[in-house]
Amino acid sequence: MTDTLVMERIDTNLTRLRLPRIREVLQRVVESGEQQGKSYLSFLDELLEEEVAQKEQRRVETALKISGLPFIKSIDEFDFTFHPHLDRQQVMSLFDLTFIRQNGNVIFLGPPGVGKTHLAVSLALKACQAGLSIYFTTMDDLIIKLKKDHEAGRTGKRRSYYKSALVIVDEVGYTPINREECNLFFRFIAARYEKASTIITSNKAFSDWAELFHDPVIVSAFLDRLLHHSAVINIKGNSYRLKGKLTQKEVNSIHQVNDSGSNLTTENGSILNDR
Ligand code: ADP
Ligand code: MG
Repeated sequence: MTDTLVMERIDTNLTRLRLPRIREVLQRVVESGEQQGKSYLSFLDELLEEEVAQKEQRRVETALKISGLPFIKSIDEFDFTFHPHLDRQQVMSLFDLTFIRQNGNVIFLGPPGVGKTHLAVSLALKACQAGLSIYFTTMDDLIIKLKKDHEAGRTGKRRSYYKSALVIVDEVGYTPINREECNLFFRFIAARYEKASTIITSNKAFSDWAELFHDPVIVSAFLDRLLHHSAVINIKGNSYRLKGKLTQKEVNSIHQVNDSGSNLTTENGSILNDR
């Protein structure tokens, strides 16, 4: 059989086997292999590495697309110098993803703009790259989904927001919820407890959650499950969105209001709500 016919047959078989990257690079890898006198093994190795790398890239791209993440940012883009009070080591230790393998939770607390969502997103990105399933939702959207399932008599347990290895519930406490919604959310957290990981971000301190969830009994049962095996990261400081936009005088005046204990402060748990 001539080289051309062999190449045609290989091409057809690569298509049937769904190996498009090998199809793309075959000619180049054959030529460079011949020139450099590569062994059969390293030739095969190079082709397989190319295909696996492309398949992996596609998997991550697709998973990120359907994850619901509001933006894609990595931890490398996070400026720790902007938050001198934030324990960098504690945050960075989360990125070994042990908390997900142990079905633990992470809670980011702090005023708007300090990077809670950014940190949550960058953990999700890392988890996705490591092959773990991820799902991002705001609290408001999650409640809508839980209600729909409940009204339709579905458990919802097969949905991504139940079964993903890591679910982010962003902006807990921005919008008040009623008792029924509160029960649904509690059931959601209880269902994931010790089975999978949840990251929660909130602009409300735990001391304000009793009001948020109406019933102190529910709040304590809720926090009991949520905080067991969990890291709580309290971010204090100014909004990154205002970086470079405030004069030193304005920054000082925000600090003064914070220190006086008004609802701008994070020191006592109550938080500026500028959403
Ligand atoms: P939050 O969820 O706390 O309201 P975000 O995570 O949405 O804040 O942050 C607001 C914007 O500022 C985002 O674009 C985010 O990437 C950016 N940001 C916040 N903190 C930092 C930081 N320390 N370094 C770099 N970018 C930051
Ligand atoms: Mg946010």
